[in-house]
Amino acid sequence: MAFPLQGEETCQHLLPSPLPNPYWVGFESNLAKELGITLDASGLPQDPRWLEVLSGNALETQEHTFVDPIATVYSGHQFGMWAGQLGDGRAILLGDLRGYEIQLKGSGITRYSRMGDGRAVLRSSIREFLCSEAMHALGVPTTRALAITGSKKPVIRESLETAAVCTRLAPSFLRVGHFEHFATARSTVHLTTMADYLLAHHYPVCQSADDPYLALFVAISARTAKLVAQWQAIGFCHGVLNSDNISVLGLTIDYGPFGFLDRFQMDHICNHSDNQGRYAYQRQPQIMHWNIACLAGAMLPLIEQRYDGENAQTHLQEALEKFPEIYRTAWLAQFRAKLGLKIENAGDMSLIESLLKLMHGNRVDFTNTFRALSHFDASHNAKSNPLRDQFLNRDAFDSWMQSYLDRLKEEKSSHAERQSHMLATNPKFVLRNYLAQTAIEKAQNDDFSEVKRLLEILQDPYSEQPGMDQYAVPPPAALEQIEVSCSS
Ligand code: AMP
Ligand code: MG
Repeated sequence: MAFPLQGEETCQHLLPSPLPNPYWVGFESNLAKELGITLDASGLPQDPRWLEVLSGNALETQEHTFVDPIATVYSGHQFGMWAGQLGDGRAILLGDLRGYEIQLKGSGITRYSRMGDGRAVLRSSIREFLCSEAMHALGVPTTRALAITGSKKPVIRESLETAAVCTRLAPSFLRVGHFEHFATARSTVHLTTMADYLLAHHYPVCQSADDPYLALFVAISARTAKLVAQWQAIGFCHGVLNSDNISVLGLTIDYGPFGFLDRFQMDHICNHSDNQGRYAYQRQPQIMHWNIACLAGAMLPLIEQRYDGENAQTHLQEALEKFPEIYRTAWLAQFRAKLGLKIENAGDMSLIESLLKLMHGNRVDFTNTFRALSHFDASHNAKSNPLRDQFLNRDAFDSWMQSYLDRLKEEKSSHAERQSHMLATNPKFVLRNYLAQTAIEKAQNDDFSEVKRLLEILQDPYSEQPGMDQYAVPPPAALEQIEVSCSS
């Protein structure tokens, strides 16, 4: 079931703009197999028409024909301000395949392009492709990426770059911004159609609730709270948490100036264009709550179908107020797991918070600190732990370590059991900006080998992968501050 809305005011039926002389830059074979695409020995589609279809040059292959591509309209709040109508300005939904909507990002101008050129550059397409698949492998709900095709077609950003198309997949690309759009347009019919579609296809358990629409809101809110807890736990900063970039399926969507934390800083800002730090790491939970409040406002007309105005608001308000608690519970569960703690103890919150404070103060690497803790054998002398050397303030580290060791004594599991859980929770490999940058620079010189290699490494982030240690090290000083902006 594709985009549920119909009519001129909801979407534009159009063909993607052709991408001249395309070639494969990246391809995810496992996902392709899931879609029923037959592959050759090199893991690329056997039918060369897939290259044309996923570049926006055709709709038909031997295996599948797309019939009615569309671009959809949505609105949104950008950096806290109402931005009015936005929409798929450079993404075209080809159609559905095996439970996924297939979208081409960077496939040309649509009715919603405003001043944009409808294109995406190779650089940002590689970042989106790799991060989508990295997040999926980390177990974080996300849109997926099937392929990148590139072209020599020039595209102007801060400098001259070249065009690429990234094929994105999701069970649905509906966003908070879609609800905001039709709420602002006072189109309760379209709000109802979207909500009914979500209930039927993505939130079936809510259908039997007293008020299915209120239950739907509660469920979207809960998924979003849990999603942001996962981001915090792997040190992922999204960068542009505008309400038009928030999925109503609780998926990470719209990879732009995102970043994984290297040196831990609570107030890390990954988006160079975010001058106020609105989307800094530690603000993400609060901002997602804010976005869900936008959704509540947009869903009000649906709740009012059952309750009168004031009551409807009260119900939504009560549901919205549950977000922080759901987030806190999910966050605590995530970080308990990161420390190998299975039993719940009232002091865990402060143990975790004091570790994060210590990591912040000593600016240690986020990913590697948790990975090193996972390798640490509590029966050995804590002072011989190589992690200790990473902390400038050794006394503070020793004191935290002592409270951690005391806490571990309450756990029933053996060291080996705990270690294997922690190693499956704390990744060794994440898409650090400088790694993505290396792959991008090679690709800009027509060498796509690093895109392929990074994809393979990131698809197995919890394994040791002997020989790949250089992909698990923090950035060299010169590459610590790569500037990533909204330009894409
Ligand atoms: P983003 O900041 O990437 O989430 O984009 C915000 C809005 O701008 C969305 O409606 C996009 O479709 C649109 N947009 C971004 N870049 C372009 C572009 N190069 N051409 C057309 N529309 C764009
Ligand atoms: Mg967007």
